[in-house]
Amino acid sequence: MKPETWAIVGGRPDRVPGAPLNTPLVPASNFVLGTERLYSRTEATDTWEAFEAVLGGLEGGHAVSFSSGMAACSAVLGQLPTGAHLVIPDDCYQGVAGIAEAGARDHGWRVERVPAPDTDTWIAKLLEADVVWLESPTNPLLDVSDVAAVCAAPRKDGTRVIVDNTFATPLLQQPLALGADVVVHSATKFLGGHADLLMGAAVAKDEAQRELLITARKLYGATPGTLEAFLATRGVRTLPVRLKTGIANAVELAARLEAHPAVQRVRYPGFGAVVSFELADAETVDRACAAIKVIWNATSLGGVESTMERRSVHPGQEHIPDGLIRMSVGCEDVEDLWADLEQAFAA
Ligand code: PLP
Repeated sequence: MKPETWAIVGGRPDRVPGAPLNTPLVPASNFVLGTERLYSRTEATDTWEAFEAVLGGLEGGHAVSFSSGMAACSAVLGQLPTGAHLVIPDDCYQGVAGIAEAGARDHGWRVERVPAPDTDTWIAKLLEADVVWLESPTNPLLDVSDVAAVCAAPRKDGTRVIVDNTFATPLLQQPLALGADVVVHSATKFLGGHADLLMGAAVAKDEAQRELLITARKLYGATPGTLEAFLATRGVRTLPVRLKTGIANAVELAARLEAHPAVQRVRYPGFGAVVSFELADAETVDRACAAIKVIWNATSLGGVESTMERRSVHPGQEHIPDGLIRMSVGCEDVEDLWADLEQAFAA
């Protein structure tokens, strides 16, 4: 089955007469005893499992849902012992860098940072590190790693490759099939797709890793909300069509931005629906962000609505140029988006 079809048919109730087409919201903490399902935090609910089934099918692994993308990342990295050696991209989501910094401070982790496109160094690190953590494209500079080459290269016994697939989504990149061990997602972004929920997931290649993730969810309790899981599943149904429109808009806007005299540099990897670009300085960016009327001056990304923000406002982003805007390109008409940017640049 093609991913575009699975996004729609996966994680549905059995096709029996009278069954609803959508898995219902099951707002349960506990269940009548007599089966293996006792308590939602220790097992699951049907609502979480619907999301896990559709996402797991798209990624080709076993999905475990969490309360946020950060909860999923923490569940994966929380498995690292004292003194572990972790390699992350030099540009990556600042929350993940924050977990790594806390691990270095509190648990003696050795953390190294490697530029995402430096394939040779990533491959070399596979022979030394305990965890090699890729994020591709990276947030917010949109650097790209050769995920296939890194996943396929020889590694030390026990080294795990984790890929944050939030920006690419399983429709553009399936790291587990390339040899990664775990994929993580901020489902808050493209999977949910409507800026109305916080949720995350980790998708394991094998059953043993899935058990570790479920144990982490049980112990640390970062369970998804019922409504969030329902909405995230509903979001995945339209991911293929939303992404198609977002990418077409992003390709067009990247080309026009490239030719605009106010724009000093465009960073667009050629795929995905996020475009980063640079204006002269922070002040120019703030003026443009205050002038937009169709696009939202807001953080986050992956929704049907286009958003943009100056990334240098966020702490821990010292490597980000002052004038860098990260724009999440939504599904509006591209001419309306372009007209909005043009008038904002002229403000
Ligand atoms: N990974 C990436 C690439 C992200 O961009 C984010 C959030 O922006 C996260 C993880 C964390 O996800 P959440 O905000 O859902 O906790």
